[in-house]
Amino acid sequence: MLRLLCFTAHPDDEAGGFGGTLFHYGDCGLETHVVCMTPGQAATHRGGAKSDNELARMRRREFAAACKLLKVNSGTVLYYPHGKLDRQDFYSPVADLTRRVRKLRPHVIITMGPEGAITAHPDHSMIAIFATMAFHWAGRTNRFTDQLESGLQPHRTQKLYYGTTLFTMPDRQPVSLPPTTAIVRIGQKGIDAKVAAFKCHTSQAPLFPFFEETVRRRGSQELFHLAATATPMKAQNETDLFAGVAE
Ligand SMILES: [Zn+2]
Repeated sequence: MLRLLCFTAHPDDEAGGFGGTLFHYGDCGLETHVVCMTPGQAATHRGGAKSDNELARMRRREFAAACKLLKVNSGTVLYYPHGKLDRQDFYSPVADLTRRVRKLRPHVIITMGPEGAITAHPDHSMIAIFATMAFHWAGRTNRFTDQLESGLQPHRTQKLYYGTTLFTMPDRQPVSLPPTTAIVRIGQKGIDAKVAAFKCHTSQAPLFPFFEETVRRRGSQELFHLAATATPMKAQNETDLFAGVAE
C-alpha cells in the first residue's frame, strides 16, 4: 500500500493547496495523511468565535470534515500558534514532524515551498522548512535518537515535493516559486472535491470567492516541484508523484 503524507500550516491549506491531489490519490485507493501544524486560531475571519480557543475548536472540526470529503485516511491538527511559526524554536517542531514521518512511513511527502506559496504567509514558509528537515532527518540513525530508543525506526521517504503554481497574485508582492516538475491531473471530480472541501471551512467563508478564483486559474491540475529524492536522479517532467517509487 503506497502512502502519501501532506504537511500543512493551517486548516484549509489541505483543501486550497492540495485538495485535488489528496482526493485523486485517495480515490485511487492509496493511503493519504495530512498533518497540519496550527489550528488557525489567529485567523482574520473568526466565524463568530469569541476566543482563539473557540475558533481553534471550530477549525479542527472543519478540517476533519474537509479531510473526510477528500478521502484522507488520517488528518491531524497540531497545537502550534498560528502566525508565529517563525518564532518557534527549530528543534521541537522538526522533532514532532520527524516522529510523524517515522510513524506513518510515507513513500512520498508533499508540503508547501519555502517562499510561502502564493500568499507568502510566514507559516507556509516555516512548514516547508520544518517538513523538509523532517523528510531528511527521519531516515537518519543519528537524529532524534530518543525516538529510536523508544521503538520507532528510521524511515527514508522516497520523494519530497513542494506545491507550486505558474502564477502569482496580481494584487500582492510577487513570490519566487519553485519550478514545476510534476503535473497531477485532478479532473473535474478533483476540482469539485477541492471546492467542496474548502467550503467545509465555514469560518473562512469570506475567503470563498478568492479561493474559487484561484481554483479556476489552476484548472484541473495541481503542480509540484520535486525537491528531493532518496535515489539520485535528474529532474524529469512527471505526471504521477509516485513515479519510480518502490512499495
Ligand atoms: Zn495557509
